[in-house]
Amino acid sequence: MRDKCGVVGISTAADDVARPIYYALYALQHRGQESAGIVTHDGFQQHSHIAMGLVGEAFDEADLVGLGGAAGIGHVRYPTAGSVEKSCAQPFTVSFKNGSLALCHNGNLVNAGELRGDLESLGHAFTSDGDTEVIAHDLARNLLRADLVRAVKRTMGRIHGSYSLTIMHDDTVLGVRDPEGNRPLCIGKVDDGYILCSESAAIDTLGGELIRDVCPGELIVLEDDGTGFESYQLIETDRTAHCFFEWVYFARPDSIIDEKLVYEVRREIGRSLWEESGIETDVVMPVPDSGRAFASGYVEAAPDTVEFAEGLMKNRYVGRTFIMPTQDERERAVRLKHNPIKSTVAGRTVTLVDDSIVRGTTSDQLVAVLRAAGAQEVHMRIGAPPIIAPCYMGIDMATRDELIATDRTIEEIRDVIGADSLKYISAGAVAKAICKDSSALCMACITGEYPYDIDGEQTDRPVTRPTIGEPPASADD
Ligand code: AMP
Repeated sequence: MRDKCGVVGISTAADDVARPIYYALYALQHRGQESAGIVTHDGFQQHSHIAMGLVGEAFDEADLVGLGGAAGIGHVRYPTAGSVEKSCAQPFTVSFKNGSLALCHNGNLVNAGELRGDLESLGHAFTSDGDTEVIAHDLARNLLRADLVRAVKRTMGRIHGSYSLTIMHDDTVLGVRDPEGNRPLCIGKVDDGYILCSESAAIDTLGGELIRDVCPGELIVLEDDGTGFESYQLIETDRTAHCFFEWVYFARPDSIIDEKLVYEVRREIGRSLWEESGIETDVVMPVPDSGRAFASGYVEAAPDTVEFAEGLMKNRYVGRTFIMPTQDERERAVRLKHNPIKSTVAGRTVTLVDDSIVRGTTSDQLVAVLRAAGAQEVHMRIGAPPIIAPCYMGIDMATRDELIATDRTIEEIRDVIGADSLKYISAGAVAKAICKDSSALCMACITGEYPYDIDGEQTDRPVTRPTIGEPPASADD
């Protein structure tokens, strides 16, 4: 299962933690629309409310009032084809001899099957097919034999893949980021307490201050009374694998991820797109909303004669196209979603800018829409290099068969989508805009080389499978 989600954890001195978690989940809604959940702890017991749908649909006032306590964690879950089930909704909770555990996960383990097998042979029974439950059981097991920090370290030693976690053990809230830092996680100061969350926009929403990103391999434990936090660098890493697609597509433009404002990265990529492949057309227009920051950077770098204009209007009430399970439904959704502004387009040469081409459905349809509206020429400029390989680390990116660039040249793709020209940004320019060397990023979807050891795929680095924390040999060791 591929989980692309938003996570939150808050510990405060006040007794109404559910409300700030609820607002933070609203701010992270773009990271998941399938289900939303909050689990709080009031010092005596856990309270939980998890429901399918958007945050606004999942909770009403009575639900929030019922979620008492000063500590809590929350989750929004991203929909992925074939796994629309309540059993996968989070936070995932377990009660065991040493208390209660609740866990929220963004990312995807690549060795969940192996770990599940180990745990099943030790008597653990699973209620979902998700990897989050595997982490929860492994951690609960380790908590029977070790203190919190050691238990987390042992679990981190066994899980392999991408994970940003918020965890609550009784009323202690913690956050963990995988040793490669694949998914974002940051820490901030809010009224009466501290917050751990996927993106800094959630901290802004609460009127708080971003403190910093959680480091790859780091555990943060929030003080129970909201007065501070402890940091433990549990696994040292010499090579990160931050997902570049967070900056290009997934994260909110107003979030700061690993010290870079997402909006600025997108604008910088837009400027480089002009430098690498600019073409003078009458008008440059974004695919709303995903192409907007790229298009504004592109036009900024272009000569003054090139005009920026909105040429496509988006119907905001249509969900993201990829939610539709079949290709047919996806195609209908694109047409539902975008309508041209004829006066900007008719009789003019147009450059259309978007962040990425995945299956090619959006570009194909939009080029046709613009031509039908009278565009003389339609040129496409794309803010991510061609996506040729699937993502196993949490972004629902389609299979190789579905990806338009897997076995086509750029000229062939141009022909399929019907554009007059098509250019993609280079991988080097993307890394430069993020201010990282490309070796510090996960670019597997554009290179086909993975930072993790995945069956049947090539890896781009020596396998860094952890060796600490071997599975327990018996039930009571
Ligand atoms: P496609 O129509 O499959 O080529 O998808 C490209 C469009 O979907 C672009 O406008 C992107 O902003 C958006 N997009 C890119 N990646 C994803 C993703 N993982 N999930 C959903 N939408 C995406």
